[in-house]
Amino acid sequence: MTAQKVDVLIVGAGPAGAAAARAAAAKGLQVLCVDRRAQIGVPVQCAEFVPMPLLRTVHETQSRVQDVSGMLTVLPSGLQHHSVFPGIMIDRGRFDHGLADLAQAAGAVVKTRTSFVDWDGQCARIKLASGELQDIEPQLLIAADGPHSPVAECIGLAHQPVVYTRQYTVSLCYDYADTDIFLSDAFPGGYGWLFPRGPVANLGLGADKRFEDNLKKPLEELHQQMVERGIVGSEVLGRTGGAIPVGGLRSMIHGRVLLCGDAAGLTHPITGAGIPAAVISGDAAGVAAADYLGGDSDALESYEEDMQDQFGPALCRAVQRRTSLEAVWRKPAAQEDQVMRSAWIAFDEYFAA
Ligand SMILES: Cc1cc2nc3c(=O)[nH]c(=O)nc-3n(C[C@H](O)[C@H](O)[C@H](O)COP(=O)(O)OP(=O)(O)OC[C@H]3O[C@@H](n4cnc5c(N)ncnc54)[C@H](O)[C@@H]3O)c2cc1C
Repeated sequence: MTAQKVDVLIVGAGPAGAAAARAAAAKGLQVLCVDRRAQIGVPVQCAEFVPMPLLRTVHETQSRVQDVSGMLTVLPSGLQHHSVFPGIMIDRGRFDHGLADLAQAAGAVVKTRTSFVDWDGQCARIKLASGELQDIEPQLLIAADGPHSPVAECIGLAHQPVVYTRQYTVSLCYDYADTDIFLSDAFPGGYGWLFPRGPVANLGLGADKRFEDNLKKPLEELHQQMVERGIVGSEVLGRTGGAIPVGGLRSMIHGRVLLCGDAAGLTHPITGAGIPAAVISGDAAGVAAADYLGGDSDALESYEEDMQDQFGPALCRAVQRRTSLEAVWRKPAAQEDQVMRSAWIAFDEYFAA
């Protein structure tokens, strides 16, 4: 089999992969980006909230659905805490699709129904939609293939710890401008959420399977409570879920392989927010690839240092907070407001030394 040579092969066309493809192609590289999905961004596995700094990308992808102004955190005792938390609810399918379109407009080739199969350090093997196998010989390989990263597995990295999520789309009974967060021992290792999205809301939860492996029951109970309070409708209009990496940042450069987005563990281990880090790291990986192939031998290390500087401290703190909570789940301390306050970003205690 003759290998096709490209400058950069990117595995995954989610936010990280599409951002990397766009940046590298815009710098003149020959870029092939593959995704095993039949359609970019489908199915949506997301609560669809992004913070304000991502506004430009939201505009570019025409994916804005509604603005969010605050966060209402509900503590185990039922006490509520309101904080300012501006952001945007997006149409995640449109967001991902739009980013892939931008990558193609910059000159990247994006192939769907195409799976990464193997990497021998020189060549990547991919499986095309036809079922045929093809070898690709890239100068650099970018792993943007999500929390379970098959590329990371191929290069011998350990699996990342993940939190599992389950989410319903339900109708909203009235206009809503806050994200609601529910902290409770019913969602050990995670939390419950209600994110408004125009006439509907994403109602979901995450939990650590070591403490709770049945996510259906607590989600149905949360849904029932919201119905009884007259906030959402009883019909479930959509169901989704997925894994969120919670182990924090891992080593991002392995020879000619660069990791970004969820594959690099950039998702916030407490909030589960990963779209901004995916876009930022993907973009930076694409630029670093171009700089490196253009002769800057330090470009890959600089990429990793830059990501460490931008995300390292916040991720470290979040991992510490997760670790301290692990000692209390399913114990009486998990019912204490003070304990939960120390592990949620809306409270000063979270940021205490
Ligand atoms: C239920 C849920 C709710 C979330 N809500 C939010 C939120 O509201 N806000 C937020 O900021 N973050 C949220 N996140 C996290 C966010 O979705 C991720 O951090 C983000 O998608 C990471 O982008 P990525 O490009 O790194 O990975 P992904 O979006 O996972 O993209 C990886 C891509 O790689 C492809 N792929 C995987 N394996 C292969 C292979 N072998 N060959 C080819 N392609 C492959 C996949 O098909 C996929 O398209 C949520 C996550 C979940 C699960």
